[in-house]
Amino acid sequence: MRRASETAAVSSKYSPGSLLSVGHLSVAEVSAILAETARIAALSPAERSAILRGRTIALLFYESSTRTRTSFELAAKSLGATTTLVSDKSSSIEKGESLKDTGLTLRALGAECIILRHSASGAPFVLARETGLPVLNAGDGMHEHPSQALLDLRTILNRLHGADKATSITEHSLSGVTVTITGDILHSRVARSNAMLLPRLGARVLLCGPTKLLPEDALGLGPGIEIERDFDRALAKSQVVMMLRIQKERIAGIELDLNEYIHRYQLNSERLLASAPQALVLHPGPMIRGLEISDEVADGAQSAIEEQVAHGLAIRSALLARALSAGIFKGQTI
Ligand code: ASP
Repeated sequence: MRRASETAAVSSKYSPGSLLSVGHLSVAEVSAILAETARIAALSPAERSAILRGRTIALLFYESSTRTRTSFELAAKSLGATTTLVSDKSSSIEKGESLKDTGLTLRALGAECIILRHSASGAPFVLARETGLPVLNAGDGMHEHPSQALLDLRTILNRLHGADKATSITEHSLSGVTVTITGDILHSRVARSNAMLLPRLGARVLLCGPTKLLPEDALGLGPGIEIERDFDRALAKSQVVMMLRIQKERIAGIELDLNEYIHRYQLNSERLLASAPQALVLHPGPMIRGLEISDEVADGAQSAIEEQVAHGLAIRSALLARALSAGIFKGQTI
């Protein structure tokens, strides 16, 4: 795990306010983001819309997205910013323009912050370096999805400890909490960001899935992260279970017996009732109902999947304020 001095050294190469990896955030910074999230959520719409009034934010999406893109866009608008959306389908990216030139173009047009989703791991680091702008990583290939891990954290804290405990955290905030992440761990940036963040707050993370989707060295297991291939056994130890989609866009060359997969790894109501009748159920979306999760579980009382989406809007508002040094982040030194 990185020490605090290394964290500062890594992040100072990029514009302050960038969020490229959860590994760049200290626990104190995560706590400040949660506090700002709660503060912004409590404001009136008029107060909120003053936070980024007159600022310009670009959303640059090279991969499809529903929740992440919409929530970043709605968050930016609710803070009063002007937004522009560039996607690979309808821009000069289709004609072969590079990421660097696209970023410089957006900057020349007045963008002060870029939210980037890209299929290549590391692309947000390149964009941040080339433009000097704050860049928010909205998912880069199989690498990371930092805002997803933060919204998952807020969802877990809210449900397990109550909303008032979701405003500040320490290294012990998730002590005694076991989170099982099940499915296509290998290709999942959501799993990676969560596995980097949650153990730093005291959680134990169990990774569960078949060897093809969860090789022994999948995430570079560190303290607080273990592999448990037996889903029922993992569930029995867990307060939280996070289900993942099989990433068909990244899975080329891997053959899976889907009936076998469903039998061993689907979260259905029989399994949940038998092994984890109290556990909180999460899924970053999009869900493939009937494959990794059943309808009854997705729509059931233990599911916090819609809450995750709502927390996404709140967390991304705070990340945008942080990116543009507004709110409590004014004068930030990172
Ligand atoms: N929406 C998440 C992501 O962009 C999870 C997924 O696509 O399965 O990584």
